[in-house]
Amino acid sequence: MDLISTLALYFCLTCAIIFFIGLLYSAIIFWFENEKRASFRALLIAIILPIPYFLSWQYSWEIVAIILLIDLILTAVAFSIPLPTSKNRTDRFPKTQIDERDIMFSRNELKPGSQRYEDYYSKNPNRKATDNEFRKEAGLLSNKSIFYNKLAYAASNASFYTVDQFKDAIDGPVNQKKEEISPERMLEFLIGWSKKLGALNIGFTKIENYHYYSHKGRGESYGQEIKEHHQYAIAFTVEMTQEMVTAAPQASIVMESGQQYLEAGRIAIQIGQFLRSLGYSAKAHIDGNYEVVCPLVARDAGLGEIGRMGLLMTPKEGPRVRLGVVTTNFEIPVHKYQQNHSMLDFCNRCKKCADVCPSKAISFDTPKQVNGIKRWQINSEACFTYWAKAGTDCGRCMATCPYSHPDNLLHNSIRWGIKHSPLFRRIAVPLDDFFYGRKPKSADMPSWVKEK
Ligand code: SF4
Ligand code: SF4
Repeated sequence: MDLISTLALYFCLTCAIIFFIGLLYSAIIFWFENEKRASFRALLIAIILPIPYFLSWQYSWEIVAIILLIDLILTAVAFSIPLPTSKNRTDRFPKTQIDERDIMFSRNELKPGSQRYEDYYSKNPNRKATDNEFRKEAGLLSNKSIFYNKLAYAASNASFYTVDQFKDAIDGPVNQKKEEISPERMLEFLIGWSKKLGALNIGFTKIENYHYYSHKGRGESYGQEIKEHHQYAIAFTVEMTQEMVTAAPQASIVMESGQQYLEAGRIAIQIGQFLRSLGYSAKAHIDGNYEVVCPLVARDAGLGEIGRMGLLMTPKEGPRVRLGVVTTNFEIPVHKYQQNHSMLDFCNRCKKCADVCPSKAISFDTPKQVNGIKRWQINSEACFTYWAKAGTDCGRCMATCPYSHPDNLLHNSIRWGIKHSPLFRRIAVPLDDFFYGRKPKSADMPSWVKEK
């Protein structure tokens, strides 16, 4: 009994020290992330939580120390119990191809009175009234929009203008002399090089029919059927920086979107040209010039899962990324898609994006059947109408998603818990709410972006 009591007392002292240092570290990290509320709360717990452990050791309260020890052991066991995960999973949608003419960016380009406008709405009369709602608003990057910011909007326009200049480089002549390169060597090189170019993560998949749009929905080739498909795809992510995203839906979000579309476009162009120079057909898919649905390609390439908000959620940066894709006929070893059950289980419980969405476009429900496929579907019309009002691409959902927190030891430990412990997934949402708030306010934009 003496030995157990002594062990329990020293165990209490160790716990007091670990809890204090761990929570103090969290408070410091939160502070530097400009999360003052979270920092204050972590500091408060750093002071309160170790008290019973410290006092037990200090005054040799043996019984209390043993109770605390048993309590901690039971908690550790509870976290490792494989509790059932939510059965409300999404299917691996879609089974059919999406027509690019149906996406909001394409519909936004239809000019009332034009032939394209008349053709589109004669085939889709049910969409006319809702689409005319966003046409009544100021529009993306408009000086009449809610978050108009002269310099930030000009900077965004500059990024979108620059990425548009890449359109002539998305494809090109293929070197007639094909170099013999082993798939493994190519894989190794692409993984290393893409990181050097600025990508966060890269994945590879075999192309499925549903990866490609059925028809072009933008530009001169509007309405053309997309017939030529490559067999493989390289997908990669680029990070959207936290300080620009957390101020969403203010102007910094659209600046950052423009910047990262540009980065993704540049990397895709480089990889496409690289493959063609080695004798392999390849095409870059960049902002405004996509033939594939990037989130679906990226999901199947193992970069993440499609979550409640309809974006690709990556394990480390959540939805706080932009995507780039290169399709090719080089036979690359591919990722075997496996559904990320822990992420979908967490998404089923969290619903934070649905709570903060200013247009109520995100569902609170479990995944539902849409065209025979179980999935979450956002109300894209409501979302886009808000964009047209705000002038930015909003991003409130992205900014508040618990997966979007920065990639560091603190948040990665939480992500590890979410991935491995069903019980932890159940408490991680209230924990996130406790530190950040259920509907956290938008952060301030960096001072150099603010209107003066
Ligand atoms: S971008 Fe904004 S409006 Fe659109 S779904 Fe996300 S939070 Fe809602
Ligand atoms: S905010 Fe929550 S529910 Fe929404 S996508 Fe992120 S994890 Fe899923």
